[in-house]
Amino acid sequence: ARSRGRNELELFSEELEQRTKSAADLELGIRLALDNDLFRLAYQPKYNLSDNSLQSFEVLIRWFHPKWGPVSPSRFIPFAEANGLIVQIGRLVLEEACRQWREWTDFGLKIPTMAINISPLQLASLGFKDVLLNTLKTFSVPASAIELEITEGAALSHTKEQMELILALHDEGFSLAIDDFGTGYSSLSQLSSLPASTLKIDRAFVSKITDSSSESVIEAIITLGHSLGMKIVAEGVETELQRDFLKNKGCDIAQGFWYSRPLSAEKMRSALLPD
Ligand code: C2E
Ligand code: CA
Ligand code: CA
Ligand code: CA
Repeated sequence: ARSRGRNELELFSEELEQRTKSAADLELGIRLALDNDLFRLAYQPKYNLSDNSLQSFEVLIRWFHPKWGPVSPSRFIPFAEANGLIVQIGRLVLEEACRQWREWTDFGLKIPTMAINISPLQLASLGFKDVLLNTLKTFSVPASAIELEITEGAALSHTKEQMELILALHDEGFSLAIDDFGTGYSSLSQLSSLPASTLKIDRAFVSKITDSSSESVIEAIITLGHSLGMKIVAEGVETELQRDFLKNKGCDIAQGFWYSRPLSAEKMRSALLPD
C-alpha cells in the first residue's frame, strides 16, 4: 500500500466511508452540496520535465461534507456519472474555474493553461458546447486558455456526433488532452484521427515504475504520442526515481505529489506569483 501513497489509516477510513454510506445518502448529499455551494476546487500544477517550469494546472473538485468530512472524487464522481448528477457538478466546476481564472487575471497574474476534467456523460449531455462557451463568455476567458481533459473511453467513442463535437471544440480553440491513457483500448488509427495535443499516462503505470512490464508500456505510450505530435503528461509522479525515469524516456510533463499536491486557490495563487 506504501507505493499508493496512502497510509493505513486513510485506507481504513476510506473503507469505512464506503460501508457506511448508502447510495441514497450519497445522492442526497450531492444534491445538498450542490444547493448549498459546498463543493470547492483544488488546483494541481504540472511541470515541464526539461526545466521544471510550471506548464499548466489541473482543476480538481473537492467535497468536504459537514458530517462525513472529505469525500473523495474517485468515490462520488463515478456515482454522479451513473445517476446523471455529474452534469450539474460539471457546470459548477466550469463556472467556478472560470470565475477563479478571471479573478487571478484581473489581479495581474499570468495564468498557464488551465485543465478541466470533462466526464463522458457531461460531454454527451445536451447543450454541453453552449454551456461551455457561455460560461467562458460570462467571465471573458478565451478558449485557448483551457485544456479539456477527456478520458480515453469518451474521446474515442465511435459515435459521429461525439467526434463532430470534439472537432468543433478544437475549432473553437480549446486544447484537448486524453486522460487516463493506457486504460482503454484505442487503436492507433482512432488516436491519430483526434485533434488532441496531449496524452496523459494513467497513474496506474507510473506507480509501477521499477516493474519492467509497466516501464515498457510507458515507453510505448511516449513513442506513440510523440509520433503523433502530442505532448506526454505523466500523472501520479510520487518519487524522484519515477521522475528521473520519465525524464530519461523523453516524457514532457509531470504531475504528482513529488512536485505538488493539489492546492487550495490561495496556495495556487502564490504558485502563480512571479518569483
Ligand atoms: P484524474 O483526472 O486522473 O485526476 C488525477 C487524480 O490523481 C486526482 O485525484 C489527484 O489528486 C491525484 N493525484 C495527483 N498526483 C498524485 C500522486 O502523486 N499520487 C496519488 N496517489 N494521487 C495523485 P482526485 O482529485 O481524488 O480525483 C480523482 C478523479 O476524480 C480524477 O482523476 C477525475 O477522474 C475525477 N475528478 C476530479 N475532479 C473532477 C472534476 O472536476 N470533474 C470530473 N468530471 N471529474 C473529476
Ligand atoms: Ca484528469
Ligand atoms: Ca488522469
Ligand atoms: Ca487517473
